[in-house]
Amino acid sequence: MSKFWSEMVKRCEPYVPGEQLDQQNILKLNTNENPYPPSPIAIEAIKEELDRKLNLYPSPTVDQLRNEAAKYYGLSKENIFAGNGSDEVLAFSFMAFFEPGRKIRFPMISYSFYPVYAKLFNIPYEEIELNRDFSLPAEAFFQSEGGVIFPNPNAPTSVYLELDAIKDIAENNPGQIVIIDEAYIDFASISAISLTKTYDNVLVVQTMSKSRSLAGLRVGFAIGNPDLIEALYRIKDSFNSYTIDRLAIAGATAAMKDIEYFNHTTQKIVQTREWAAAEMKKRGFHVLPSATNFIFACHYSKNAADLYTGLKRENVLVRYFNKSEIDNFLRITIGTDEDMKLFFEKLDSLIRKAS
Ligand code: PMP
Repeated sequence: MSKFWSEMVKRCEPYVPGEQLDQQNILKLNTNENPYPPSPIAIEAIKEELDRKLNLYPSPTVDQLRNEAAKYYGLSKENIFAGNGSDEVLAFSFMAFFEPGRKIRFPMISYSFYPVYAKLFNIPYEEIELNRDFSLPAEAFFQSEGGVIFPNPNAPTSVYLELDAIKDIAENNPGQIVIIDEAYIDFASISAISLTKTYDNVLVVQTMSKSRSLAGLRVGFAIGNPDLIEALYRIKDSFNSYTIDRLAIAGATAAMKDIEYFNHTTQKIVQTREWAAAEMKKRGFHVLPSATNFIFACHYSKNAADLYTGLKRENVLVRYFNKSEIDNFLRITIGTDEDMKLFFEKLDSLIRKAS
């Protein structure tokens, strides 16, 4: 292998998501998918599209979906970029707004894709330590050299940063882009989208994979000032002008319209989360305050790696991060009430056997 290629390969350290087992009878609580199906209106729209139009290219500007999203957010189409999952939107954002030679900042415990993209695009980075209670130290993000990115609520910790603190980060990064990755925002917190009207350096990224039950369709958004959105379209069109396919456009547009279903399912997940967090505490877990569709918890005496392995043996998948700062924690996606009851049954028998 030539030196160029071996250097290149070293720079690419692929992101490894939680296990995807297609086996039946697995209780899958490891990748923060929604346990409820997508809106029936979305399914209907996909079927209709499938029957009629797959011989035609999709719209490169995805106007139909952007208009519907704009209506929902109270903005205009020019404020919305739509991509093939928020992972793709994040990749385009790294390319458009972060530069080789200028250090960006993100939290040390955070979404593991950020260092992957930074390495791939040759962008130097600083990882900012979280506070002892796992909250984000806003001031440590002030005056960055090359920009800032963080999830809010943070993943995998589930902890939410208040809007005022985000405003301070935006104000204290003049000329640098502040990206707020709001993959889990719909599970009970206030979005930073309102800040995009005042701060032209704030870009909010959202996804239809979690609160809208469409992880399999791959649709995500960037929301911000029209100049930022135009920059993203320029990057996208330099790679693949048709990133979102027809079925995804049809399904996602219909799902954005079905606000009643969205409210009902997200509220149900929040309710189940609160119940599940209380149940975890009863069993000796310390649970971080969650504003997401998962909980992040550590047991006062049991080892997280052993619990993860024991649960997996019982066909229950949760997420364990083999990373020293959080290797005593488990991340558990909130399923339906029935899913969580089964989870606690398996957990209880594991804890009983181990004591
Ligand atoms: N951001 C965060 C913080 C996430 O946890 C995820 C899901 N793994 C994503 C972005 C990407 O979501 P998607 O590509 O499915 O939109």
